[in-house]
Amino acid sequence: MLHSLVIMGYRLSGYSNFKEFKQQTYKCHSDGRNWHPDYPYIIKHLDSCRFTGKAMLYNMLQLPYHIPFMTPVSLAMNNLGGSKAQSPANARRMQSIGPTLNYCPKCVQRQLGIYGRSLWERSHQLKFASVCWRHGTRLIPVEQHLHHPLLPADFEMQDTEYVFDSREIWLANQSRDLLVGNHGPSNLAAMAGLYRARAISLGYTRGRKIDYGTIVDHLKKRFQEDFLLRTMQCADLDGVRGALYAAMNSVRLVANPIHHLFCMEALFGDQRLFFSQLKALSRSEETAGRVAALNSDETGPVHKQIFMVELRRSGQEVMVALHKNFPFTHSWILRNALVWSRRKIAELTLRGPKRPSQLRLAAKHRNFREALEEQMSRRAIHANTAAKVLASGSAVGAHSAQAFHRMSSELRRA
Ligand SMILES: [Zn+2]
Repeated sequence: MLHSLVIMGYRLSGYSNFKEFKQQTYKCHSDGRNWHPDYPYIIKHLDSCRFTGKAMLYNMLQLPYHIPFMTPVSLAMNNLGGSKAQSPANARRMQSIGPTLNYCPKCVQRQLGIYGRSLWERSHQLKFASVCWRHGTRLIPVEQHLHHPLLPADFEMQDTEYVFDSREIWLANQSRDLLVGNHGPSNLAAMAGLYRARAISLGYTRGRKIDYGTIVDHLKKRFQEDFLLRTMQCADLDGVRGALYAAMNSVRLVANPIHHLFCMEALFGDQRLFFSQLKALSRSEETAGRVAALNSDETGPVHKQIFMVELRRSGQEVMVALHKNFPFTHSWILRNALVWSRRKIAELTLRGPKRPSQLRLAAKHRNFREALEEQMSRRAIHANTAAKVLASGSAVGAHSAQAFHRMSSELRRA
């Protein structure tokens, strides 16, 4: 918006050269990205949201995507003064961004209809996002002219191409949500702790370490390899694993927002959940212990919700379906909510059972449990069989559990 405003000012000013216009306006040379230090005094009157304003002045409409993954200190070093006094992280980010901008031809038509002019939209500028979140159209990437900047309507290419790839649409919506969320800079240690605790509680572990390979497998199933490699910019899946590791441990100075979006998708399923937990965490100012507490409370409902969705879809075969589609939920249920899950499955079918048969089944049930525990100790190899046994025997199990309870209460009375 502000970037567009500056360009409009240049058009109306009658200057034949953008450089001269800026020189006169800001009393300093600029290549269109780095502005004179005096500019903070002007910006106050133009932009109520400091961070986004800065980003646009730097011709970095992408900066707002980076802010949630920066510390307050590194953001403060992202000063308006120009390239000389920047932090190394900022300098690297500047290099990686470049002057490529995206626009959506449908949005251009819409803006021309409403405002009579076209504008650069921040929500189209996430690197590697290639679809408009509003129209589902292919974004057109162009090189911005630093000395004669153009508005989207000035470019000849205005062909509309609709995209039906759900992965591209996912990325477009994620990038928009990231902007709309308007998140401030974060405590990176807390962020790393949050990722870690969530990964552990979801079962993405091998021994005591986080198993990044399994997370990559999960993402590969969801997005396919080609999309991962294109957006993560890695040559192979080892690279993707490395990128996830770097994001989850806040290793790199220049965080790539897309890497974080994938981490959030794999571990939280929803970036709002991630940011709300991060906020709660920063507020409490405690780290590891608090994260663990937060996660143990939070993951249960998530797994149970996944279970209920699958139950509705697959009925009594729910555990088999879980094992296939949500292996971590499957093992979480086996570990933590076996009785609950059996009851839920039994609720599907059992109505008014008879007592003698219940007692017979109770005996079976105990044998069944022992067998299951044995299988669980041999988990990985036999997990599939356990799921099948559980799925077929679970109605029986819950049924007999009720009977068993009733029997023991009667015994106590006697
Ligand atoms: Zn659009």
